[in-house]
Amino acid sequence: SLSIGILGLPNVGKSTIFNALTRAQNAEAANYPFCTIEPNKAVVPVPDPRVDKLANMVTPKKTVYATVDFMDIAGLVKGASKGEGLGNKFLSNVREADALLHVIRCFEDPNVVHVDGSVDPVRDIEVIETELVLADYETWSNRVDRMKKQARADKAAAATIPEVEKLLAHLGEGKPAIAFPDRNSELFKKLLKECPLLTDKKIIYCANVDEDGMVKDNDFVHAVRAYADAKGADTVKICAKMEEDLVGMDEEEANEFLKEYGVEESGLNQVIHKGYHTLGLASYLTAGPKEVHAWTIHQGWKAPAAAGVIHTDFERGFIRAQVISYADYIEHGGENACKEKGLMRTEGKEYVVKDGDIIEFLFNV
Ligand code: GDP
Repeated sequence: SLSIGILGLPNVGKSTIFNALTRAQNAEAANYPFCTIEPNKAVVPVPDPRVDKLANMVTPKKTVYATVDFMDIAGLVKGASKGEGLGNKFLSNVREADALLHVIRCFEDPNVVHVDGSVDPVRDIEVIETELVLADYETWSNRVDRMKKQARADKAAAATIPEVEKLLAHLGEGKPAIAFPDRNSELFKKLLKECPLLTDKKIIYCANVDEDGMVKDNDFVHAVRAYADAKGADTVKICAKMEEDLVGMDEEEANEFLKEYGVEESGLNQVIHKGYHTLGLASYLTAGPKEVHAWTIHQGWKAPAAAGVIHTDFERGFIRAQVISYADYIEHGGENACKEKGLMRTEGKEYVVKDGDIIEFLFNV
């Protein structure tokens, strides 16, 4: 499954955030027997008020949320691309992630040492991003060398060399692959699939603040937001220390607590939601007396592929899908009422499943 890698300089709050995610995982672990627990991975339920509402109506035996995977990537320091710190180990962990959560220190605390002696979010972001671009530059330059060797015997390959060198020049200017203008051409789609780059991933910037910063954005947060906005990326503000406390509270307590800070959703939940959407995921729902279940699909998937998430037999023997929109289901008070009013649609193989659809599949065994 797809995963979000958590990275950032040392002492910015990565482990604190990862621990809070792990606790959210463990609180629901009984409902996810198929997930193996790994030390650097957290399979975290995606909070979903739609699931809660359906569960209240149907009162099933079990409620299962969609999940998103987070991976703790420790050990990035200046020089990692040259093997400093955990170096290559770090880079291979980044490679495995499908998107990145970049944690940035946005709090002052004399008791917490900063690796560079002061808090400076943009400098910190650039340290990390420079390491990633340097590593990519090396990867791509090896790739270009190999292609040049092949090109001696292959004219078609030779013709692509100037194109491939454009990306090398782009990386050479310190720019990430994801911002390369021709990235979505057929040629580069193919090349980047064969040879994935670290800077070709979406990034969510995560500003870790103290309690005051939670109430009101501090200058560090302003700097992160400006940087992220310029790249068209998302920013999430979080107080990692507060999240540790929040995970242990029940819903009512947590809401009270958040209200004091004037926020509606905990930073951790924002991270989970943004992560889920950044990965291009969506969920459809099934609702019955046995369980209410949110199933994860990729945005744009058709009904048979969506059915395959429940069981491969559902996809292989797919006949049709009976679909009720979430809004109709709630407005009319459930499946039977929707059926009577003709609001349960019959959809075929070409139907593109929408986020929040409530579905029943019919299939041949
Ligand atoms: P990592 O090296 O990035 O994994 O950072 P840690 O999560 O281990 O955090 C480093 C130190 O900063 C720890 O002592 C944390 O308790 C502290 N810390 C993390 N988040 C916050 C925060 O929001 N405010 C303050 N004051 N300290 C924090």
